[in-house]
Amino acid sequence: MTALAFLLGLVVGSFLNVCIHRWPRAESVVAPRSRCSTCGRQIAWHDNVPALSYIVLRGRCRNCGAAISPRYLLVELATASLFALIAVEFGTGPSALKAALFAAMLTILFFTDLERFVLPDQVTLPGLFAGIAFSPFVPLRPGVAQVGCDLLGLYPAPWAVSLLESLASALIWGGILYLTGEIFYRIRGVEGLGFGDVKLVAMLAAFQGSSETLLVLLAACLLATLCGTVAVLSGRKQWSSPLPLGSYLAFAGIAALFCAGSVLNRYWDLVLE
Ligand SMILES: [Zn+2]
Repeated sequence: MTALAFLLGLVVGSFLNVCIHRWPRAESVVAPRSRCSTCGRQIAWHDNVPALSYIVLRGRCRNCGAAISPRYLLVELATASLFALIAVEFGTGPSALKAALFAAMLTILFFTDLERFVLPDQVTLPGLFAGIAFSPFVPLRPGVAQVGCDLLGLYPAPWAVSLLESLASALIWGGILYLTGEIFYRIRGVEGLGFGDVKLVAMLAAFQGSSETLLVLLAACLLATLCGTVAVLSGRKQWSSPLPLGSYLAFAGIAALFCAGSVLNRYWDLVLE
């Protein structure tokens, strides 16, 4: 099963590469067929086999010899490894499907923000709806919705609480990010947070609920600060350089799939002791 998930991940990763290249350029991912971005020659099916072709051709176009970005291999191997991990951790039910979709979407966003500072609506908006649509079937960890119901003395069915949690988290965290961006803009006069980041955080919140999203935001800010500082100190960036916050959020979101549960459980154990 794990090997099968790995193979499926290679194929899906190959499609994610097409999305990463084309969506920020407003091109269709369905047609035309893949071409070399240097010589324009259409790539034959046998030169388009996930991972293998890249290794056989040693990362070069067969026609013109131009180097192909190592990102193609990286995305395929990363997606394959993630799918294998998900199969081990979540099995094959609806929660595994949800985790795989989530990881695939975040992989696209990680690379589009890193390469071009774009978080395409083609991912964040369907992602927001997918997160909400999964919530009645894959229960979210209790959070703001549970607290709200308790305060009002309401006892809805568990699937309804989970759906409420997804909706409320998306609204609250998306709203907080939007307001933070607005305040920053009013004070500094430059755009610090794009609307893409707001939509990404709403998507994360719809998929993960309020408490996991808080963890993801904290981890992403910490990572961004650490990596940013290292980049400035090593002379590769300046303090004013733009930061691909979306990439850090996407990375933290994927990591949370595998470790948020245990981190939050440990936290509540400490608090309740
Ligand atoms: Zn070429």
